[in-house]
Amino acid sequence: MPRVLSPDVRRALTERVRYCHEMGVYDFYRRELLAAEAPVTTVSEPEDIASNPAFQPESREEMAPRKTAVMAKPAEESILEVIAPKPEQGVTDHVAALKLIREDLGDCTRCKLHKQGRKQIVFGVGNPKAELVFVGEGPGRDEDEQGEPFVGRAGKLLTQMIEAMSLKREDVYICNVVKCRPPENRLPEKDEIATCSPFLQRQLGVIAPKVICCLGACSAQTLLETTQGISRFRGEWFDYRGAKLIATYHPAYLLRNPAAKGEVWKDLQKVMAYLGLQPKRR
Ligand code: URA
Repeated sequence: MPRVLSPDVRRALTERVRYCHEMGVYDFYRRELLAAEAPVTTVSEPEDIASNPAFQPESREEMAPRKTAVMAKPAEESILEVIAPKPEQGVTDHVAALKLIREDLGDCTRCKLHKQGRKQIVFGVGNPKAELVFVGEGPGRDEDEQGEPFVGRAGKLLTQMIEAMSLKREDVYICNVVKCRPPENRLPEKDEIATCSPFLQRQLGVIAPKVICCLGACSAQTLLETTQGISRFRGEWFDYRGAKLIATYHPAYLLRNPAAKGEVWKDLQKVMAYLGLQPKRR
């Protein structure tokens, strides 16, 4: 029988995981594991600090630049991930497995977003066996209303981007780092990301895409565990738990800065080349 954790135990474990992260305990063990076994891709950390305040070091001092080793295989599961039961484990039907994760999320009250005006949880949408997953930041007003990610203005632009790749929205999977709308569309905060991102990781684990495309700094920094500005590493390939990961600018940023569309298109073309997709004939 899977063990169900009480909210208090879950909170205590979350605190412990966060503490270990802040202390660099995982980094230590990850380095040990890497040295021992894993094939790694090492990327240079860009110099500038992320614009997302959720990732700013407490002191406003820049975090010392370091090399981030991104694993080809999972080896650094958090304490929570190891201890918490994962009902989808061993379930081979992707639809059923995603449903189990959604059920586990329930009417979530794990972080403060549940009492800050969310109408509904926005879990994710699309092909449960997608080769390509887009990960955004968190639902906005339209998404909160409709229960589906990327359906507002930024979402329409994302749909155009997907179609320009000669795909349809239903071919890919679309989800976010946090599943509840942050009030006033503010950035998700560190504790909200820490609480919600294990569900994202489980979604990605079930779907097992070939490529994860992070839309914007929040998802890229969360999945790559970095504080660095997205402009320093967008368009580069990373290894993420058996998938390829690439980060590009968020469609909402493109609405404000249309000149950056060319950069994003270059990133998407890399994804297309990797997946063997031909550009759409006009
Ligand atoms: N922005 C996001 O990051 N996600 C959405 O679902 C919509 C807008």
